[in-house]
Amino acid sequence: MRIAVAKEIEVGERRVALIPDVVAKLVKQGLEVWVETGAGERSFFSDSAYEAAGAKIIGDPATLWGEADILLKVSPPQEREDGRSEIDFLKAGSVLISFLNPLGNPAIVEKLANRQVTALSMELIPRTTRAQSMDALSSQASLAGYKSVLIAAAALPKYFPMLTTAAGTIAPAKIFIMGAGVAGLQAIATARRLGAVVEAFDIRPAVKEEVQSLGAKFVEVQLEEETVAAGGYAKEISEASKQRTQEVVTEHVKNADVVITTAQVPGKKAPLLVTEEMVKQMKPGSVIVDLAAEQGGNCACTDPGKDIVWNGITIIGPINLPSSMPVHASQLYAKNLTSLMQLLISKEKALQVDFADDIVDAACVTYAGEIRNKRVSEELA
Ligand code: NAD
Repeated sequence: MRIAVAKEIEVGERRVALIPDVVAKLVKQGLEVWVETGAGERSFFSDSAYEAAGAKIIGDPATLWGEADILLKVSPPQEREDGRSEIDFLKAGSVLISFLNPLGNPAIVEKLANRQVTALSMELIPRTTRAQSMDALSSQASLAGYKSVLIAAAALPKYFPMLTTAAGTIAPAKIFIMGAGVAGLQAIATARRLGAVVEAFDIRPAVKEEVQSLGAKFVEVQLEEETVAAGGYAKEISEASKQRTQEVVTEHVKNADVVITTAQVPGKKAPLLVTEEMVKQMKPGSVIVDLAAEQGGNCACTDPGKDIVWNGITIIGPINLPSSMPVHASQLYAKNLTSLMQLLISKEKALQVDFADDIVDAACVTYAGEIRNKRVSEELA
C-alpha cells in the first residue's frame, strides 16, 4: 500500500498533507510513503526530515500521483502551469483525500468520477463524536479563529487589555464576535486571553453556554423559526429573521472596537450580517475581520483577500488563514488524515472502502465512476 503526499501548487497554500512525525508512524505500520520533492518546504519540513522518517522523495509529480494507492493533499487538485491536470495523473481505482470544495466546485467531482477515482472530501467528514479526530474543518477553523484575533489586535490603534499605568488608565477593547462555531469560539478564547471584553452572537441558541463559559456575553436574538439543520449546522434564515437579527446586533456592532465575523451556512453564500449602514455607524479606527470573505463575506464592504479602509474603518477579508500557520495547520491536518486512513486500510494493508461505515459513506464523493453525493449531483444537473 503506497501513500503519496503531493506538493501543493495552489498560490498561497503553505500547508502540507503529512508531516515527518506522522510519516514515521505510517512507515512503522508497514505502509510505504512517497513525498513529492519540496512538499513540506513552505511549512518548514525538509525533504531530509521526511527521508529520515522513512519516506521516499519523488521529483516527478506524474510518477507520484500515478503510482499512489492513496494520494493525500490539502487543496483541491489543480490545473498545472504546464497545462496538465493533476487529476489526469491519478490511476483508476486509487483514492484521493483532500479538501475538494465539492459543492462550490462540482466540476472537479465530475472529473474525479470520470477518472474512476475514489475521492474523499475532508469538508464532508460528519461532525460526530466518532469522527472528531478526522474533523479537518474544525482543526483548521480553530487556527483561523485564533489568527483572526491577532490580525485584529495588530490593526487596532488601541490596546486590547485594560491597563492601569502611571500615565493613566486604558479601557479594554470591546470585541464583538458574530458566529460562535469552532472559529468563533476560538476567537472568543483568544480575545479574552488578550484581555478584551467580548460579546458574541449566533443564531443557534445552543452555543449560549459555550460562549458564557469562555467569559463572553451572549447576545440573544429571539427568532420564531428553527435555526438548526441536520448535523447541528445553521440553516439559512428567513428575511424577517434577518431583519430582526440586524435590529439587535446593530447596537453591538456600533459599540465594538473590533468585529470578527465567522458565520457560514454549508453550501450557501455566507449570510450578510454587517451592512454598509452598520459599518458607517462604527467608530473611526475600528476593525472588522471577516472570516467568511472566501464565501462572499459577512460584511457588505469586505473585499476578499484585501485589507481596506472604508469610512475610517479597517476591513480585513483574509483568505486561507490556516495556511498562515502552516506548521500547526499541517500537524493537525496530518492527524485528521491518518485517523481517516485507518478506516480505509485493512489489517492486511489492503484498500477497503466500506460504505457501511458512516464516516466513509458521508465523505466519499466519487466511487467506481459514480458521484455519490446527492447535493453535488443536483448542482451538476
Ligand atoms: P460554520 O463554520 O458552518 O458556521 C460558523 C457559525 O456561524 C456557526 O456557529 C453558525 O451557527 C453561525 N451562523 C450561521 N448563520 C448565521 C447567522 N445568520 N448569524 C449568526 N451566526 C450564524 O460552523 P462550524 O464551526 O463548522 O460548526 C457547525 C456545527 O458543527 C456546530 O453545531 C458545531 O457545534 C458542530 N460541530 C460538532 C463537532 C463534533 O461534535 N464533533 C465538531 C465541530 C463542530
